[in-house]
Amino acid sequence: MTSFNDFGLVEPITRALAEEKYVTPTPIQAQTVPLAMQGRDVIGIAQTGTGKTAAFALPILNHLYTKRLRPAQKACRVLVLSPTRELSGQISDSFRAYGRHLRPLDVALAIGGVPINRQVRSLARGVEVLVATPGRLLDLVNQRALRLDQVEVLVLDEADRMLDMGFIHDIKRVVAMLPKERQTLFFSATMPQEITRLADAMLRNPARVAVTPQASTAERVEQRVILTDKAAKPALLAELLKSEPVERVLVFTRTKHGADKVVRALEKAGLLAEAIHGNKSQNQRERVLAAFRDGKLRTLIATDIAARGIDVDGISHVFNYDLPNIPESYVHRIGRTARAGADGVAISFCDHEEGAFLRDIERLIRMSIPSTNRRTGGRPSPVPQEAEGRNGGRPHRGNQRGNGGGNGRGGNKGNRSHGGGGHQGRPSQHGHPGGRSQAPRQEATSGEPSGLGNVRFMQHTGAPR
Ligand code: AMP
Repeated sequence: MTSFNDFGLVEPITRALAEEKYVTPTPIQAQTVPLAMQGRDVIGIAQTGTGKTAAFALPILNHLYTKRLRPAQKACRVLVLSPTRELSGQISDSFRAYGRHLRPLDVALAIGGVPINRQVRSLARGVEVLVATPGRLLDLVNQRALRLDQVEVLVLDEADRMLDMGFIHDIKRVVAMLPKERQTLFFSATMPQEITRLADAMLRNPARVAVTPQASTAERVEQRVILTDKAAKPALLAELLKSEPVERVLVFTRTKHGADKVVRALEKAGLLAEAIHGNKSQNQRERVLAAFRDGKLRTLIATDIAARGIDVDGISHVFNYDLPNIPESYVHRIGRTARAGADGVAISFCDHEEGAFLRDIERLIRMSIPSTNRRTGGRPSPVPQEAEGRNGGRPHRGNQRGNGGGNGRGGNKGNRSHGGGGHQGRPSQHGHPGGRSQAPRQEATSGEPSGLGNVRFMQHTGAPR
């Protein structure tokens, strides 16, 4: 699936997607949209940031357009349950954006923490789509402001987080009020047993789709981490681009704005680079990608989403200018340089605020990544060790980092549950109140103004970074 036009979505939706500058469906979209358009129930194992909102919103909007019905009073045709107010707001914004050429399309939001009366009024005449958190939804039902017997499609988003937040009983109560004849689309980042049982009770002959990347990609790539100060990142990148044997390099930033800043910083250092991200026009994007593919452009700066459409072999280096807050994104990113069996190098910058992200990544890939410390103000560590070089990581031993390994992915979940959706680049991902230690790691090389040539890569000892 290479284009949104291949799905057979109605024109008002493809037009909106073109306006959103969506070109290539993400993997969860490519898998989910055709199944959901056939009316199948779907279990999607995917995190926020993978494009899963459009994966369910597009087939639903298509259904609403092709089967036009006036919603009954106080009823909704589509119910989306989401665990947080923030995520609910983002989902309703997405429905409005992708459905902007569908009329009429009433999208209502029912979340706690705001007065209920406006929500009661907005539901009075009935709506096509209601996005709700479970508690407020039940309040509205109890006040007889909402009836659930007309729901044609139910979406349960972030089911595992619902479980973590104690919503499981509310969800069961809501589901019991829905018609048995309905389509259910169920999304969760992980599938613990209790979630599997919930899905079994709610879905009929569901298709399963998953976009969790295989951690094994990581084993083919030579990985290094440089602990650095945030402010030193631009100079460090310029230095490495000059000293490393870089043929073709992809540099990842967390935000679009960050990507443009890196381009400007490299320009100042006399290095040519271009950025691609959602704000660039299609023409601009194609021109830059062609130059990158032909070898005329050596350095491309991209955000995670923008990089999804890039299919270029021969990338010798991936730089993580910012570490991703979703550990799976790290595996996706570095996988860019190990295409078709080729090996590559992945160098990640880790500033003081990114220590927790690094720990989540290492837990997922079950390796510690050799690192060097270029942060200022460090003390030497007592016993420096040489890195093992390629694949120099070693498996984690049990719980040496605290927090427990679990399925190797749990750590980020706690982080996300405060961030309102866990989108890439949201500042709220930082400074998780759970008290993760952000103390810088101290090593023998700390503070040395050396280039990579005389920097020693060391295994870390499990101390907080
Ligand atoms: P989500 O996982 O649904 O929260 O989506 C993450 C981000 O990716 C959102 O900002 C979307 O607007 C964006 N997005 C989703 N699908 C695509 C796509 N196919 N192409 C470009 N951006 C997308």
